[in-house]
Amino acid sequence: MADFTTLIQGWFRRNQRDLPWRHTNDPYKIWLSEVILQQTRVDQGLNYYLNFTTKFPTVFDLANAAEDEVLNLWQGLGYYSRARNLHASAKQVVVDFDGVFPNNYEGIKSLKGVGDYTASAISSICFGLPHAVVDGNVYRVLSRYLEISTPIDSTQGKKDFAEIADKFLDVHNPGDHNQALMEIGALICLPKNPSCETCPLVGSCSAFSSKTQLNFPVKAKKTKVVKRYLNYLVLFDGKNTVIQKRVGKGIWQGLYDFPFIEKEKLNGLELSELNQYEPIEIIQDGQLKHVLSHQELYVSFWIVKVVKLNLDESQITVPIAAIETFPLPQLLIRYIQQSRLFGAD
Ligand code: SF4
Repeated sequence: MADFTTLIQGWFRRNQRDLPWRHTNDPYKIWLSEVILQQTRVDQGLNYYLNFTTKFPTVFDLANAAEDEVLNLWQGLGYYSRARNLHASAKQVVVDFDGVFPNNYEGIKSLKGVGDYTASAISSICFGLPHAVVDGNVYRVLSRYLEISTPIDSTQGKKDFAEIADKFLDVHNPGDHNQALMEIGALICLPKNPSCETCPLVGSCSAFSSKTQLNFPVKAKKTKVVKRYLNYLVLFDGKNTVIQKRVGKGIWQGLYDFPFIEKEKLNGLELSELNQYEPIEIIQDGQLKHVLSHQELYVSFWIVKVVKLNLDESQITVPIAAIETFPLPQLLIRYIQQSRLFGAD
């Protein structure tokens, strides 16, 4: 496998993107970058990385932050469990490891939310340990390079690809090897339009020679997407509205949203269902579609003007002007930007 790793590392030295986390060996910062970049494009994640490292320059700063502060900074990135795990792990590093980031694979993997991929990335990049990373980019490059048809989302596929990635790994320089392979997946071996003519592996790539690049990687299952129909109630007494913190499992745990009524179909809300709020006026304030990994949300927003805001124990009142100081789902930010109540027009 010497040729393979020589080719990709040579290409990486000449072509890697200049990214801030490539100028540090601090495992705390590498860890932040790895968590932020899961399911996020580099151009989108870059500002989040800069904001987090500015606001929380050390693991102690992150551990001591309030959860709302962390979620606020994460706002817009989605997959909020990553932010909650980040916060919990920072506390774990402070309490269990005296504030010193663990320097071995097992220690890193013991942190909340850290799986094989992140533990391999941090241990190889920061500590030169021989652990091969396997992420979406690596699956794509290796499956094409070797024309492997085992589905990457099957147990067998995960096992096979982990073994192959290990075999290819440059144990003397695992950090650069891993980063090179992921960078080729991110910049060259693209899902729909691979730039094979500029790829360092073109001379020995099986899929290129048989023109089957787009047949790989193979996936077994299609993600099942559930449609949901929500009616958000923006209760309004002339100054304040009502929000609630989402608790328990399900989407947006730890974020705030308005009270809502869920229906089986679009436009399924009967206005008489709002009588309990004793409305003096009800205004339809737009509809939005919001797509998550496993759910499509069809959302209607209703401004419900009332004389008095009645709360249950999970709810709080907040002045309209202060709502964005709370961590909110991206859907609500989109709504606020276009709502007549929040000053869009
Ligand atoms: S030659 Fe093309 S298909 Fe093969 S690894 Fe490179 S970019 Fe991917």
